[in-house]
Amino acid sequence: MDNPRHELLTVVVAAHNEAEALPLLHPRIRSALAGLDGLRARVLYVDDGSRDGTWPVLQDIAAADPQVALLRLSRNFGKEAALTAGLDLVEDGAAMILDADGQDPPELIPEFVARWHEGWDDVYGTRIEREGDGWARRGAAAVFYRLIGRLSHTPVPADTGDYRLLSPRALAALRQLRERHRFMKGLFGWIGFRSTALPYRRSPRLAGHSKFGLWRLWNFALEGITSFSTAPLRVATYVGLLTALAAFVGGLAIMAKTLLWGDRVAGWPTMMVVILFLGGVQLIALGLIGEYLGRLYDEAKQRPLYLVDTWQPAAAGVSFAQ
Ligand code: UDP
Ligand code: MG
Repeated sequence: MDNPRHELLTVVVAAHNEAEALPLLHPRIRSALAGLDGLRARVLYVDDGSRDGTWPVLQDIAAADPQVALLRLSRNFGKEAALTAGLDLVEDGAAMILDADGQDPPELIPEFVARWHEGWDDVYGTRIEREGDGWARRGAAAVFYRLIGRLSHTPVPADTGDYRLLSPRALAALRQLRERHRFMKGLFGWIGFRSTALPYRRSPRLAGHSKFGLWRLWNFALEGITSFSTAPLRVATYVGLLTALAAFVGGLAIMAKTLLWGDRVAGWPTMMVVILFLGGVQLIALGLIGEYLGRLYDEAKQRPLYLVDTWQPAAAGVSFAQ
């Protein structure tokens, strides 16, 4: 390869309790990388506070493969922080992000690399089909992508996860974003540069089970919206304005009615409805402000995004930044 920028690729895999899947995944990554000529490649596994023997499994993999580096975090920090920890170490060449459970097929790595060599900075995998997802999850995903597309100025492509290749300059840009609430899809979109989609079929998990249930997905959606849009706060303002307007019109009507027909004591139900309605609207608006305030509080503490327990560099090959 004549362009030195196209020399090195690091596959970054975040793993939390993936002891069963990793021994199946690693040979597939290995053979995908072997198919790349003119490119040096290495693999970086980040153990995100696993409790199921993932770390010994990773050590076995590293013992057998000199191009494997391992990073172990001090506890479970979540996938976003684990990926950030891994990407922070890649100061040279491009990075390919892969799930540890085999849902992102490593066999496609050469295609990602080919797009990178064509000059793309962010090559992201887009699911052709959401196999294994029920209609509820599909529907929720569709609503979410539409909502975030409307509310946020940052482009967030639909049906896209973290499965992607990032060029060196995209990585450098991403490294500058140190926010604690890391909605990665939004961050990838925010940095801009030249991005392209690579459609792929998402496979079922090799082993184990998903850590993202419906409740976690709901919180994930909240995270996305509050991290990339302040529109909900404005909605609260408009709902307030509308109710004030309605109250004004209603007040005029009541006054006219009283002047014309006198005031018989009535209207208790109306009053209750109005009070309850306004109380509800106010609580929702307060809750919304609370969501943003809580995130502000988290950011203000300025804690590190993750803590490292053990760093085990690759036995051979290109060394990592530290
Ligand atoms: N993961 C992680 N830390 C966590 C949760 C998940 O590093 O706290 C990793 C996990 O090992 C896997 C990837 O993130 O490689 C995706 O997780 P999962 O398969 O549970 O999510 P799904 O594919 O169901 O969205
Ligand atoms: Mg998965």
